[in-house]
Amino acid sequence: MSAPDLILDDHFHDHCGVFGVFGHPEAANLVYLGLYALQHRGQESAGIVSSDGTELQVHRAMGEVEEIFQQPGVLAKLPGSLAIGHTRYSTAGDKALLNAQPIVIDCNKGKVALGHNGNLTNAAEWRRKLEHRGSIFQTNSDTEVIVHLLARSQTRNLSGALGDALNQLEGAYSLLVLTTDELYAVRDPRGFRPLVLGKLSTPGGYAAWLIASETCAFDLLNAQYVREIAPGEMLRISKCGIESIHFAPEKPHQQCIFEHVYFSRPDSIIFGRSVNQSREMLSRLLAREHPVEADIVVPVPDSGVPAAVGYALESKIPFRMGLIRNHYIGRTFIEPSQAIRNFGVKLKLNPVRSLIEGQRVVLVDDSIVRGTTSRKIVRMVRDAGAKEVHVRISCPPTISPCYYGVDTPTREELIASSNSPEDICKFLGADSLGYLSLSSLKQAVVDTEGRFCTSCYTGVYPTDLVQLEVRGSNSNGKQEASVTMEREPGSGEGPVVVHRES
Ligand code: SF4
Repeated sequence: MSAPDLILDDHFHDHCGVFGVFGHPEAANLVYLGLYALQHRGQESAGIVSSDGTELQVHRAMGEVEEIFQQPGVLAKLPGSLAIGHTRYSTAGDKALLNAQPIVIDCNKGKVALGHNGNLTNAAEWRRKLEHRGSIFQTNSDTEVIVHLLARSQTRNLSGALGDALNQLEGAYSLLVLTTDELYAVRDPRGFRPLVLGKLSTPGGYAAWLIASETCAFDLLNAQYVREIAPGEMLRISKCGIESIHFAPEKPHQQCIFEHVYFSRPDSIIFGRSVNQSREMLSRLLAREHPVEADIVVPVPDSGVPAAVGYALESKIPFRMGLIRNHYIGRTFIEPSQAIRNFGVKLKLNPVRSLIEGQRVVLVDDSIVRGTTSRKIVRMVRDAGAKEVHVRISCPPTISPCYYGVDTPTREELIASSNSPEDICKFLGADSLGYLSLSSLKQAVVDTEGRFCTSCYTGVYPTDLVQLEVRGSNSNGKQEASVTMEREPGSGEGPVVVHRES
């Protein structure tokens, strides 16, 4: 049985995590720990690049952060007081080690390493143009386009050349760039993905600067959270201090609302707000919007736990851990030859019959993507003796894919793209189904000014022109179609039109 079949993880998948250190004698060790705290943002590969002031040293490998950097001698080969790291779940390019980051180049701007969280929506178009002009690509990752545009910029200083390169690109990027003596942290003008600045005292009494995707990485190091990198801001950190450069014209902010629903850790502060506060609020609002007479509230662990806690608090229905998750699932598994009903989902979850039997259950999760796993879980809860099963989802129906750095199935695979909540309820075999409304989701993250991207719930995309080719395979192992998306001329903020080329 393949890993995707086995793990049955019917979620949008996180993209990448980045962590950087400037001015600490143990920079690579700190990056290792930072990546460890950001492991939930990508588990396929990881890498660290360090600088001792003259040379860049790199180590990248497939696997999780601990297994890569606990190998004897690996961190010792990454000396210096500057380092950046990256943990990856591929969103563009295939999963090979070739695409692991940070990418390191030696070009006319010197030795440079890049770690990128996000997805460039016009990367395929730029790649074609650059190849036509003679550029030779080493990877099929969209990040390499930045490298080639950087090398081609006529601007001699790196901050200017980076600005030149990034102003030609569209989409999502929270980017770390390391040279032998400087660290840059850059966030795209719409601010899709998070990026934060922190500070840590060094043994010498100086402050080291830290950059991370999420603040939970600072907590592990006892570092202080200073602030967000603003959308459209480039921080240049050198021995002269920190310089803030606004490298791009302002654009309406489009921070990923799904970071608050699911991706980010609840102990992080994302886009200036506690993720835990958002999750509690959205599940309280869910309980107000979709009340039901029931005996217990049961989360689908682990991701549904915060939402179920909020639902239980608001509804005053007792919270019970009626499903237990096995955290030790390996990457492959041999199914017994005699078929076991719901074998895959049972490997991951098991119901506690003594809690569920005879009860009216509110089953809470944070999203439904394809619906197939949710259906198996509903059946499992019924098989454990539940009298009724009422499914509650702490976000709106997910109707459209993400093109901004998140691994999503195709539109056709998203159950809510072509089915009403009533149809989905029937498919799940539930007694009732309730999704949080978009207005309540915005209320939960305090989005009074429309600062958040909600495209996967609306099908309306914020970028004026989106062109991308998804190469390789999607998370189902199926070959992805090449997709070209354009906004209809003169349609302003209206929906984009999707053209598919097989
Ligand atoms: Fe986040 Fe959805 Fe927007 Fe992607 S489309 S950036 S997942 S809100």
